[in-house]
Amino acid sequence: MLQRLLRRLGRGTLDLVLPLQCVGCRKEGSGLCQVCQSSLARLEPPYCEICAQPNDGPRCSRCVESPPPIDGIKAPYLMEGVIRDAIHAFKYRNFRGLAPELGKVLAECLESTSIPATLLVPVPMHGRRVRQRGYNQSLLLAREVSKLTGIAVAEDMLIKTRDSAPQVSLATQEERARNAEGSFLAVRESAGEAVLLIDDVVTTGSTMAACAKAAKEKGAASVWGLALAREA
Ligand SMILES: [Zn+2]
Ligand SMILES: [Zn+2]
Repeated sequence: MLQRLLRRLGRGTLDLVLPLQCVGCRKEGSGLCQVCQSSLARLEPPYCEICAQPNDGPRCSRCVESPPPIDGIKAPYLMEGVIRDAIHAFKYRNFRGLAPELGKVLAECLESTSIPATLLVPVPMHGRRVRQRGYNQSLLLAREVSKLTGIAVAEDMLIKTRDSAPQVSLATQEERARNAEGSFLAVRESAGEAVLLIDDVVTTGSTMAACAKAAKEKGAASVWGLALAREA
């Protein structure tokens, strides 16, 4: 009865009241348990050192032909199985209780690499989409990474100026590149900063490349990207 009532009030309320359940095995205690996390499909070499395209390393043909304006993108996992379920729950089903676990995944990945980061910048969503969803999942992730690493978050450095179609809805890399191009604007100086873009998933890298271009126009010394998972 109480559960039904809470469910009607929405997932956000449920998260606060009921124990967290693992998205993979339903075990109570956390949103993503250690067992399920250790079984996730890692992105293993060879992959592109710039856009993290799997099975095409050290640099994919697309990045050789036209190097994107980003120094590189890291993602610990492939977008499949339980991490895919976790990202979808976090993003589309209002399961915000996953933020600490997913943020920890990102922080651990960052610690295991030598990529520079003096400023965390969440990949922005268009204002209309934030209002629809109630939150920007990349911002929630960036805040968690900040708590664990002490690196500051620049929440309002980038804005999304155009409410373009979601990258996942487009079929080809060309369409995705065109869709992301010119959609982002840096509204704060980032002179000398080593910007680390934070997002949940990397589809082709076009979105992060467009963000990097905007940040570099405002003086960023380097721009890397970090996401939970990479689409194959
Ligand atoms: Zn589990
Ligand atoms: Zn590439």
